[in-house]
Amino acid sequence: MKIDRRSFLGLGLGAAAGVALSPVGVKLTDDSSIWTQNWPWTPVPEDGKITYDRSVCSLCPGACGISVKKINGRPVKIEGLDDYPINNGGACPHGISGLQYLYDPARIKTPLKKNGNKFEKISWDEAISLVAQKLGEIRKSGTPESLGLITGADSGSMAQLFERFMAAFGSPNTYNMPSLESNLALTAAALHGADRSLGFDLDHSDFILSFGAAIIEGWGSPVACIQANASRRERKAKLVQVDYRLSNTANAADKIIAVKPGTEADLALGLCGVLLAKNLIAGDVNTSAFAAMLAKEYTPDKVEAITGVKAADMEALAMEFIKAKAPVAVPGKGRGDVGQSLREFAAVQALNALADRLNKKGGVFVMYPADYLSFPENVMDDAAKQGASKAKLAGSVNELVDKLEKDGGLSALFIYNANPCYALNNPEKVKVAMDKVGFKVSFSSFMDETALRSDVILPASIFLERLEDVVSGGGLAKTVVGLCRPMVKPIFDTKHPADALILLAQAMGDSIAQSFSWNSYDACLEQVTGKIWHTLSGDGYVVIDDKPPVGTPATDFTFLVSAPKAAVPMGEGDYTLVPVDKMRLAVGSMISSPFAVKIISDKVLSGKYSVVEINPATAGILKDGDIAVLKTAMGKAKVKIGFNEGILPGVIGMPRGLGHAFNNPYVAGKGVNVNDLIGPVIEPGSGLDAAFGIKATLSKA
Ligand code: SF4
Repeated sequence: MKIDRRSFLGLGLGAAAGVALSPVGVKLTDDSSIWTQNWPWTPVPEDGKITYDRSVCSLCPGACGISVKKINGRPVKIEGLDDYPINNGGACPHGISGLQYLYDPARIKTPLKKNGNKFEKISWDEAISLVAQKLGEIRKSGTPESLGLITGADSGSMAQLFERFMAAFGSPNTYNMPSLESNLALTAAALHGADRSLGFDLDHSDFILSFGAAIIEGWGSPVACIQANASRRERKAKLVQVDYRLSNTANAADKIIAVKPGTEADLALGLCGVLLAKNLIAGDVNTSAFAAMLAKEYTPDKVEAITGVKAADMEALAMEFIKAKAPVAVPGKGRGDVGQSLREFAAVQALNALADRLNKKGGVFVMYPADYLSFPENVMDDAAKQGASKAKLAGSVNELVDKLEKDGGLSALFIYNANPCYALNNPEKVKVAMDKVGFKVSFSSFMDETALRSDVILPASIFLERLEDVVSGGGLAKTVVGLCRPMVKPIFDTKHPADALILLAQAMGDSIAQSFSWNSYDACLEQVTGKIWHTLSGDGYVVIDDKPPVGTPATDFTFLVSAPKAAVPMGEGDYTLVPVDKMRLAVGSMISSPFAVKIISDKVLSGKYSVVEINPATAGILKDGDIAVLKTAMGKAKVKIGFNEGILPGVIGMPRGLGHAFNNPYVAGKGVNVNDLIGPVIEPGSGLDAAFGIKATLSKA
């Protein structure tokens, strides 16, 4: 398929003029409040004493401070918290509709046990003793390593508590769901050393070169990114967006560089090659092997052939980047979580290293994790020591799915803060893999695709009902620990997942119980955050660090010198299907609230159909508004065609976050889960699913 870059840019910019940015703030707060009162299951607030409490939203990695308005002690409205060091009064549509998560009828209201194909209600005592008994049998059989954990918690005390349970039980098999945070940690490990992450100082950069990052559509800490972009004009800072469609971020950019999807790493390597060939690198980095590889494989002409970006444009971009006072290159297409390649992240970070932008104001900070938690030593008996020292079954959650689907290997699985049966590519395969695990325990708050396949559900209280430390992450160039506080007692028979874990450990007895000797999670949190607890509980947050780290970390380019080629999209077809992230559509373990679904544009969801964007230049006989069949090697779906001259010819953009398949009238049956149509392509060397898209065909239905 020939890519006509000029027509993409020329037509696209005109066509999308006037597209509004995702609104954040007062207007939506009012809308949400009005809508909230229109849902039959949402209590109507009575007159009474008005109070405001501060807390932190943990619905996404944004970690925004929130202010919760209460009437007679009952939460009635959520707004962004003024002066909070991450979001300074802003909040996104999901945060402000947090009350809907509280009252949502799809919440799991009591512990459940699978009986045949149905769930039956059980008490907490029954649920805990059932899980303890099953886990006890696994330990007795001498295979504690066959307990697995799939978690969406990257940081904070909850991540450590689950890890602690796994270690005390005797299993190394913890797997994190894909996230921007984990991709950045992998990148830092590949180039700078283990146990670090990357934070992008967008607030102080004068030249942001984004490789498809949806900076105003949910990348990183979404509200912080939107605010950094909003202040760009005053700072006279430039945004250059490398993209294959005119996203809201691209529309807000000063310049768009159109690339073929999946070739962002090649462009970044090409830019590195230009800087090295012209000897324009700044700082002290050892680049000889990297430079030799680039001179051979990534000459401007070769990169033009791969990416579609003209060699002269690439050279001009490299010059603009290196000449800026405070440039920064940002990796991670869309939200930067799934379908990402370590090669791509590392190539973009190499550009930062060559331009001497590490640990510089307005650059990228190579940060150590916030060191504020002090857990007492874990008590591990011989079985735990032996089991935990065994090799992991797989290197990543994607590899785990492969392994389980083919050979099994886990007797039991915990799932916390994750919905792999929806959020990973090819969920059908994930479901088959899950079915190979004998006993699954979900800690979900909602009946989602993964909870449905579990044997026991220990329902979690949501963020408005629980205490928790919430650590900033997601590419933010500062570390803030916030305190999420209970705004209301659990309104259903749910528990804090940490309290469920403590009860479970104590029911198992012996060394596991000794590792979890707290009376409650609240007591645990106060103990383990000892050194910051006073400020955390008083002010509601602690800024651990917000300055550039001292010194410049070394950069080792070996990974890039030996990195594999780009993941090739699977299958056949004239089109490449790519997922498109939208601010108003929740992804991952989070499900869009009814309010958020209500405000989705009909250019994204039209009735029951996902609207897919295609460029009219490659529409063939299809017309705008047609219902079409979209087919890939993984499956097919009926979709509605939406013409968009702002997407590259030959590319199909499908919104991510639709097509849930469980009994919730507000989100189920609406559109297609794009992950159903995309097969994973595991990247050698990283274990990441690097499938940015898949080949596809479109025909009239
Ligand atoms: S961006 Fe994330 S943390 Fe912030 S309000 Fe929205 S959902 Fe909550």
